[in-house]
Amino acid sequence: MNYQWYPGHMTKAKRMMQENIKLVDLIIELVDARIPFSSRNPDIDELGKNKARIVLLNKSDLADPICNKQWISFFQGQGAHVLELNAKSGAGIKAVSGLVQEACREKLERDRRRGIVNRPVRAMVVGIPNVGKSTFINSFAGKACAKTGNKPGVTKGKQWIRLNKNLELLDTPGILWPKFEDRRVGMKLAFIGSINDDIMIMDELACDLIAVLQEKYPRELCERYGIELKEKPVMMLADIAESRKCYMKGDTLDLEKAAAILVDDFRAGRLGRITLEQP
Ligand code: GDP
Repeated sequence: MNYQWYPGHMTKAKRMMQENIKLVDLIIELVDARIPFSSRNPDIDELGKNKARIVLLNKSDLADPICNKQWISFFQGQGAHVLELNAKSGAGIKAVSGLVQEACREKLERDRRRGIVNRPVRAMVVGIPNVGKSTFINSFAGKACAKTGNKPGVTKGKQWIRLNKNLELLDTPGILWPKFEDRRVGMKLAFIGSINDDIMIMDELACDLIAVLQEKYPRELCERYGIELKEKPVMMLADIAESRKCYMKGDTLDLEKAAAILVDDFRAGRLGRITLEQP
């Protein structure tokens, strides 16, 4: 199966991103903690150079806690300000404000030296589809804050959410287009549900997932379905079908259905907390 995927609207997304980035001081980049490498787009480094940067390891509740720590060290080593986050539950959200201050310290000091006070930091949230951008914005901004409305001239047509006197957030996130450097990147994006399933062949996707889990999380895979490790992924998929009683007419195993169950279990974290790439 070919995981290459670049829908037309991504071109538009890129153009919008380039325009919006000019308006902000700070980029808050969300990555998926299960695949922090594959869920990033290195283009953002070029687009966002000279801007303060925060990396949020979102969906950290679904990822391996030890790997979360490793990735935090890795991104810190690259000079980024990093936090692990669960945007859905709100765990980690409170710490983001402090991180924003830290990431923008230089800019704030520069402003102060120039006599600019009380100019809020402007930020935008970016990330690939489904990484949790809207959930984060809602959870970070909360219900209390009002939209500031259009600012004539500078930000015509843009809506800013005022979080406090120090910070304004662009209300629409920037959508990053994933970068398919190799097949494995696209594959992992498909595992986490970042690529539309309609263009996927589910049992092939499931077999690719089984192959990765066999290597990295064999115990989790076997325990969930009460099956044994086998060499061929498709045989394990058949065992999952049997254990979950997925049959078509005439007692043939319904691999398609088993595939959907496995992928769904993985995405929901029912196989355990799993990270598919190490720094
Ligand atoms: P967007 O496309 O980047 O705006 O992503 P959404 O905010 O729409 O989130 C996509 C899905 O991920 C939704 O079903 C969210 O509930 C879920 N989600 C977002 N953040 C988290 C998180 O930290 N943990 C978990 N488990 N789910 C999350």
